[in-house]
Amino acid sequence: MFDFKGKSVLITGASYGLGEQFAYAFADAGADLVLTARSEELLEGVGEACREKGSKVTVATGDVSVEDDVKRVVEQGIADHGKIDVLINNAGIADMRGLAPEHFDSETFNRIISVDLVGAFFYARECGRHMLENGSGSIVNIGSILGNGGSENGVIAYSAAKGGLRNMTMQLGTEWADRGVRVNAVSPGFIVTEMTRPALEALGMDKWIATRTPMRRVGESGEVTNAVMFLASDLASYITGVDLLVDGGTNASNGTFQIPPIHHEWNKDQPMIPSSYEPVQPRPDWYQALEAGVPGVHYPLPEE
Ligand code: NAD
Repeated sequence: MFDFKGKSVLITGASYGLGEQFAYAFADAGADLVLTARSEELLEGVGEACREKGSKVTVATGDVSVEDDVKRVVEQGIADHGKIDVLINNAGIADMRGLAPEHFDSETFNRIISVDLVGAFFYARECGRHMLENGSGSIVNIGSILGNGGSENGVIAYSAAKGGLRNMTMQLGTEWADRGVRVNAVSPGFIVTEMTRPALEALGMDKWIATRTPMRRVGESGEVTNAVMFLASDLASYITGVDLLVDGGTNASNGTFQIPPIHHEWNKDQPMIPSSYEPVQPRPDWYQALEAGVPGVHYPLPEE
């Protein structure tokens, strides 16, 4: 569907998780790649697989929160490929402890901000300057559903960082719009990767997430990749400053049902198509009392 032949794409956090999947998808679409993350061994493995798909690949290790690393990786990418057309600001860390904000430690808070927000800024600035000189470029920041509002997930630092990244996307999108550089974000809902696997799969939290997602499931990495490639591509030539949510409807919903709501059972002559979903959580006892509906609406009021 996408054609990135002749384009050079820099992906941060490409050693595993979503970044690894993005690398394979861009390689399949004909792109040349600059891949970066901290671990050389893992990154080299991804790079080799992309070379086998026909891409010219630069593998450059570095920490996104270290300014000198960022400058070195971008310089190396430009030296090897002559240009960088697309930046995917994907590297990110989260904190799975579920700590309440009132207990959250400064060290972890600062670390998450420095990787998820400041690191993304370093890359956007360094690649952005080069793209502005070329008069064209496309940046896609990987945000999160958790950067689009509050949640009960105990993620104060992550939501602050991703919320900042979302607004930075709009700010850069605005400031660079008339100079040929587009800046957008993709905000995934929950996707099983190395980051989330311990909670989602090992603890079974994927089922809990599914109950509060209108599509009743967690997402798949390919569904995020499609959105990233669209915004990175020239097909999105009039789109900038946008945060595209890939979240199964979560952001659109004003809270969604964790057990099938009782009013799904009221209008038996006009049942839902298809019928309501299987409850994941047990129905509470008091629920039975409401099954028949609203007195006077769904059944006659009791005689006085
Ligand atoms: P992951 O932990 O599986 O992979 C993260 C990648 O970033 C790895 O390649 C890792 O090496 C790299 N990385 C981490 N810190 C780095 C640093 N300081 N410098 C350089 N590289 C670093 O995570 P993932 O699920 O693939 O997440 C990718 C992005 O998607 C992140 O920005 C994450 O916040 C975001 N996201 C993930 C989900 C999800 O459910 N998985 C949901 C919303 C957003």
